This record gives sequence, structure tokens and C-alpha cells, in this order.
Amino acid sequence: MSCLFCRIIEGSIPSKAVYQDDQCYALADINPQAPVHVLIVPREHISSIAHAGSENSALVGHLHWVAAEIARSKGLTRGYRTVINTGEDGGQTVDHIHVHLLGGRPMTWPPG
Ligand code: 5GP
Ligand code: ZN
Repeated sequence: MSCLFCRIIEGSIPSKAVYQDDQCYALADINPQAPVHVLIVPREHISSIAHAGSENSALVGHLHWVAAEIARSKGLTRGYRTVINTGEDGGQTVDHIHVHLLGGRPMTWPPG
């Protein structure tokens, strides 16, 4: 299996779960861009949100609900940002859909 996130989820690459359930696995980003930077990754391999079908729509929503739950658990009462990077222009570097949860500092807009 060549996908980095699939290997992390199956446990062949060690990682520490921030949250997990039957649909997804969340872990701290190895190169954090904010004091809180968590990746919420579905257990099912879907390359990007552009590859998600209608059968995946509830899962895509679940990933965002999990992000909000993690934000609550980490006390991000001032707010936070959730991001999905897609494809080359979107800056996606790992081709397994994931939601970034970023918090603990003010965010700027527009993103770079
Ligand atoms: P993308 O650029 O695809 O939106 O996000 C991929 C993220 O995965 C990046 O923020 C990157 O720092 C993170 N990442 C890459 N390799 C690893 C790894 O081995 N472990 C963890 N925890 N994060 C990783
Ligand atoms: Zn994968």
C-alpha cells in the first residue's frame, strides 16, 4: 500500500490519534502551521474531494463535524479554520482526502 495516510491508519507508520471512530482517524500534523494543527482523515481511501461521490457526502460532512468536536475538546473558543486542499492549484500534497483543523492563532484572509 503506497498511500501515506492509509499506512498511518492501518498502523504500519506509527502515529498518535487525536480522535478516532469507525469512519475516520485524526492526528497532529507533522509540520504544524498553527498551535493546533490536526488532520482528520477518513479510513476509506478517497483521493480528494474532487473524487468524492454522492455516496461519500455524509462522510465529508462527518469529517467537518469531527473537526468541530476536536476544536471544542481543545478549547478553541476564539475560532479556528478548517481547510481541504484539492489538487495541484489547491496545494494538496497527500492524495487521500483530509480536513485540516488550524487554531490557536488569528488566521489571515485570503490564504496564500
Ligand atoms: P495537504 O498538503 O495534502 O493538504 O496536507 C498534507 C499534510 O500532511 C501536510 O500539512 C503535511 O505536513 C502532513 N504530513 C505529511 N507527512 C506526514 C506524516 O508522515 N505524518 C503526519 N502526521 N503528517 C504528515
Ligand atoms: Zn489512502
